[in-house]
Amino acid sequence: MLKKVDHIGIAVHSIAEARKFYEDGLGLTCERIEEVPQQKVRTAFFSIGETHIELLEPMSSDSPIAGFLEKRGEGIHHIAYLSDDLEQNLQGLRDSNCRLINESPVAGAGGKRIAFLHPKSTHGVLTELCEPKSEE
Ligand code: ZN
Repeated sequence: MLKKVDHIGIAVHSIAEARKFYEDGLGLTCERIEEVPQQKVRTAFFSIGETHIELLEPMSSDSPIAGFLEKRGEGIHHIAYLSDDLEQNLQGLRDSNCRLINESPVAGAGGKRIAFLHPKSTHGVLTELCEPKSEE
């Protein structure tokens, strides 16, 4: 079951540059900066209520985020929903003919297990489902 919107992912050229707006402009606090080598991405997490803002900066020019920035520029990259049973959610989506980018969960930031759904099946929004690694 999906529990809430966990975070909104925003692609940026530079976390060092972008965090100034989120910290000085919006007054949010950067909780942590974390690299996810599997996704070739550096992430910065900010909390706002029960939701997070995840800034995504490419770690290399062949990062999917680098490709996104090149094509679309900075902006909203994905919306992530928190799941309490990722496998079951993925199976349900598969059964309803949703195109999955990750057929099975992969490692995401914060030790979460994540899976992306294809924007072609989600009305244009890259959608992530994430599940905490262990009970938090
Ligand atoms: Zn995310």
